[in-house]
Amino acid sequence: MNSLQLEKIGSLKLRQAHIPEINSNEILLKVTHCSVCRTDAKMWERGQRDLVLPRILGHEICGISESGKRFVVWPGKACGQCRQCRRGAENLCREMQIMGFHKDGGFAEYAAVPESSLIPISDKLPGNIASLAEPLSCAINALEQAGVEKKDCVLIYGAGPVGLMTALAVRAAEAYPFVKEISPDKLVRSEVFRRQVGIKCVTDVDNNTSDFDVVINAAPSRDTFLKGLADLRPGGCFCLFSGLTDDSPIPVSVINEIHYRQLGITGAYGCTREQMRSALKLLSDYKEDIRLLIDDHIELEDVPVVLPKILGGQALKFIVKL
Ligand SMILES: [Zn+2]
Ligand SMILES: [Zn+2]
Repeated sequence: MNSLQLEKIGSLKLRQAHIPEINSNEILLKVTHCSVCRTDAKMWERGQRDLVLPRILGHEICGISESGKRFVVWPGKACGQCRQCRRGAENLCREMQIMGFHKDGGFAEYAAVPESSLIPISDKLPGNIASLAEPLSCAINALEQAGVEKKDCVLIYGAGPVGLMTALAVRAAEAYPFVKEISPDKLVRSEVFRRQVGIKCVTDVDNNTSDFDVVINAAPSRDTFLKGLADLRPGGCFCLFSGLTDDSPIPVSVINEIHYRQLGITGAYGCTREQMRSALKLLSDYKEDIRLLIDDHIELEDVPVVLPKILGGQALKFIVKL
C-alpha cells in the first residue's frame, strides 16, 4: 500500500509498505480521509514528546471497514483500568498509545485500529467533514476543562483552524466566542468563517476592560499566557490548550495575579471518545460552516508540500483523500 512515512525529522517520504497486520482486538480500516494537523507539521519539523520514529503520521482519520461500515478513529489506546481511565479521562492514561505518534496513523491506504477506538458515523456525514472530529473534540475538551458555561465570554488566542474550531464549539455551547489574532493574513483567511459563525474579533485597543470568563490559547507564544491572564475577570479560568514554545521565565508578578485575582489555570491535551461523539454531532449541525475551514483536498504525496504552509500559518485545513 502507499504510505507516507516520517523516516527522520525533516524527511517525510512516500513509501510502499505492507498492509498492516491486525491483532485480535483490531480491525483493518481502509482510510478514506485523513486531515493534516499542525502537530503533523511540527513532528516533521522538530519531533514531538510522544513521537516514535520511523512513523506513518496522521491522527485525524475517517475510514471504512471491510464490512462497509464508516468510522472516525479515536487516535488513542488507553489501558481502561487506571484511575484516569476509570474517571473518564482516558486521554490522560499513562499507558496511552496514540496513532500517528507511538503507532502508525492514517497517512496510508490502510490502518490497523483497535476496535475500541472506532466511532461510527452517520451516512449523511461526508468523510472529509468527519475527519475533523478529532481536532474539534480536542477543542471540546478545552471547553470542558475550563468549565465554559452558557453565556460565558470566551477569548481565544489564535484564529488558525484550531482556534476557529474552538470558537465554533463555544458558539455551540451557547457562549460567546471572541478571537485575538495578530496576523492580518489569518484575519483575512478566517473572515468568512468568523462572520458565518458569529465570532467577534478583539483588538488590543478595545480590550482594555478585560473581563473574560475563560481564555484559551490556540497559539504557542508566551504572550498568549501573559496577556491571557490579564484578559480574565477575577475568578476566570485560563486553559493552556497549546504548549508554549518560549523558555523564558514567567514573572512572579504574573504568577501572583493568579493568587490575588483567584484565577483558575487548566491544561487540555487530546480528547476522549465521548468528546469525539459530541464533536460528530456538532459537525452534522454545523456542516456548512465547517466546510469553510477546508482549503483543499490533496493526495498523500502533497502532504510534504503543504506542511511549510501550515507551519507558516498560511493554511486552514488540508485533507488527504485516499
Ligand atoms: Zn491533530
Ligand atoms: Zn489508563
